[in-house]
Amino acid sequence: MSGIDRCQVAIAGAGPVGTVMATLLAQAGISVIVLEAGQDCARDLRASTFHPPTLEMLDQIGITPMLLDKGLKAPVYQWRDRGSGEKIEFDLSELSDITRYPFRIQCEQYHLSRALAEGLETHPQADVRFGNRLLSFVQDDAGVDLSVETMTGIERIRADFLIGADGANSVVRKWLGIEFDGFTYPERFLTLSTETDLAAYLPDLSYVNYVSDPSEWLVLLRVPSVWRVLVPVNGAVDEAELTSDVNKNAIFDRLIGSGASVNTQHRTLYKVHQRVAKSFREGRVMIVGDAAHLNNPLGGFGMNSGLHDVFNLFEKLLPVLKGQAQADPNLSLYERQRREVTHSFIQSQTKQNMAFISGGAGAAHEARRRELLAIQQDDARRRAYLMRQAMFQSLEDAALIR
Ligand SMILES: Cc1cc2nc3c(=O)[nH]c(=O)nc-3n(C[C@H](O)[C@H](O)[C@H](O)COP(=O)(O)OP(=O)(O)OC[C@H]3O[C@@H](n4cnc5c(N)ncnc54)[C@H](O)[C@@H]3O)c2cc1C
Repeated sequence: MSGIDRCQVAIAGAGPVGTVMATLLAQAGISVIVLEAGQDCARDLRASTFHPPTLEMLDQIGITPMLLDKGLKAPVYQWRDRGSGEKIEFDLSELSDITRYPFRIQCEQYHLSRALAEGLETHPQADVRFGNRLLSFVQDDAGVDLSVETMTGIERIRADFLIGADGANSVVRKWLGIEFDGFTYPERFLTLSTETDLAAYLPDLSYVNYVSDPSEWLVLLRVPSVWRVLVPVNGAVDEAELTSDVNKNAIFDRLIGSGASVNTQHRTLYKVHQRVAKSFREGRVMIVGDAAHLNNPLGGFGMNSGLHDVFNLFEKLLPVLKGQAQADPNLSLYERQRREVTHSFIQSQTKQNMAFISGGAGAAHEARRRELLAIQQDDARRRAYLMRQAMFQSLEDAALIR
């Protein structure tokens, strides 16, 4: 045990959400300690899409140029009927009157957290501690005492505030005893990545493609290094079987007809949930990102909505830290705005996005296709759809909550 370290804000988790929060605070002159259980920022293949309003927000910490440089610009995304090959396309360029970034950026989330962690490592206000796992904490009227497991033992930190950005299994959320209501999908999602150019086999692919099929829907995403295939698999089947060569070959046989010739860089299985924490704040402790809410990846809302939490919370917390505002009502407004919009928008939109590509066959499939075509062909409905899918609508909705 090495005495007690102090900071204004302690953050558990150096994922995209924790590193953005820490950067905002450090750049505003607030002392932060970031605790990350892993030895580095996680390098798995989860988020790959940055939506236009998120790119605008990230400009505030100067990281958007890096994403534009490293990522791929995807103004157009498509709904594709796997059976007929028909495409229905949506073009974010139509929103260029309201955003300087009328496209998605396709870039692995790892690049964001790693670049920000590097910046924090040399920032005088920040202290990033890899291999440090938050174990527990106790709060009082003036601050929060944290117990942290390190390579050498248990250390203690005293912070004015604690932010849980510690992901789906958040210790912060559990320690506060906050319920995480919702459900887990029975199927699991398998993501396969490959350097094989899928666009050479499937004509006119965009960088983002939602492929509808009543028996095996898919999401096909291009990121700079690879193509990613996201496919639902039977959740009751053994993991080794689902990630085997036999299964990989069968998936690519069905997709492009030559499964055995496809080499994969990743084969990762995910359990997917729709869950929202009963509250996002308890006194001096707040939760953000996956610690507070989970949704399916259809539409790319998970990390993006976590980053929207962060910018909202920063705006409310900074005046409190500077002694210019009270924790109440400022921090409770964060909770109201972000929690309500998570329920009313993020949860319902992601469920709807999944239903659009996975629902029943025959007449039901045809009805969904006609509905999407009707949206695409009507100027007002298409714009409203783009505003929802690009997440502008969720931010407008949140701002109306007082
Ligand atoms: C297949 C798939 C595809 C996805 N695609 C997209 C997409 O395109 N767009 C999108 O917006 N979202 C997407 N998501 C969701 C996105 O990946 C998550 O929403 C995002 O990673 C959440 O970021 P986070 O920082 O809140 O949590 P995480 O990224 O999970 O980071 C949490 C961090 O906290 C650390 N940690 C945990 N416990 C402790 C502890 N006790 N002490 C210290 N550190 C701790 C972990 O090691 C981890 O580094 C996808 C998800 C999946 C599964």
